[in-house]
Amino acid sequence: MKVLVPVKRVIDYNVNVRVKSDNTGVDIANVKMSMNPFDEIAVEEAVRLKEARVATEVIAVSCGVTQCQETLRTALAIGADRAILVESADELQPLAVAKILKALVDQEKPELVILGKQAIDDDSNQTGQMLAALAGLPQATFASKLTIADGKAMVSREVDGGAETLSLKLPAVVTTDLRLNEPRYVTLPNIMKAKKKPLSTVKPADLGVDVTPRLKTLKVTEPAKRSAGVMVPDVKTLVEKLKTEAKVL
Ligand code: AMP
Repeated sequence: MKVLVPVKRVIDYNVNVRVKSDNTGVDIANVKMSMNPFDEIAVEEAVRLKEARVATEVIAVSCGVTQCQETLRTALAIGADRAILVESADELQPLAVAKILKALVDQEKPELVILGKQAIDDDSNQTGQMLAALAGLPQATFASKLTIADGKAMVSREVDGGAETLSLKLPAVVTTDLRLNEPRYVTLPNIMKAKKKPLSTVKPADLGVDVTPRLKTLKVTEPAKRSAGVMVPDVKTLVEKLKTEAKVL
């Protein structure tokens, strides 16, 4: 069973993001970039399936600039077998990525595609769903548990006030939630091994995909500044302030 894992290069989650002065976007110059955290979980899950001899091959794919190779090397160091870079310097919106992935699904014929539930830069939460629709595949989003047996994927997902378990006929699309697993620490020997694993590069046009953006960002702004808090000496003063100043009591 082949597993395809799309991994996105995003600003590292520890970085304090700065909005550009002209409000056209966020500043990514000289900023640490890493694999989207939900995608690390997706690679980990795929590699665990391989270690359990359920999957035979794990293919990582990233769409974007040349530097996405670094993200792919991380996926290879976690344990993916090979990687595909779909290289483009253009802005790639979720629909464009979903179309690219659909073309790769047609080419590679994976039984399972595991994506992150959302990329922490655009917070779109769209690509997996769009891919499932374009490829005509069943989907289970926000997976907190995944088991594969008898040509089916069993997926547990958290819903309001409980958990839901879905059964999907393979091939299928699954997106990961935070609770699915805890990705392993990437060791130096595995980083070295990853350098020798195959990484191929294609362009969106080679896959027959038009990546023209369909959405226009009008403005990006910083969140409103929070005013400083006040220390109160005791509960009595707090209650008093809640009554007279905040007027919430
Ligand atoms: P989004 O819909 O942008 O929130 O992204 C959801 C998921 O789609 C991510 O967690 C990735 O698994 C995948 N994805 C989105 N953009 C890319 C990209 N440029 N390259 C590879 N995978 C991507």
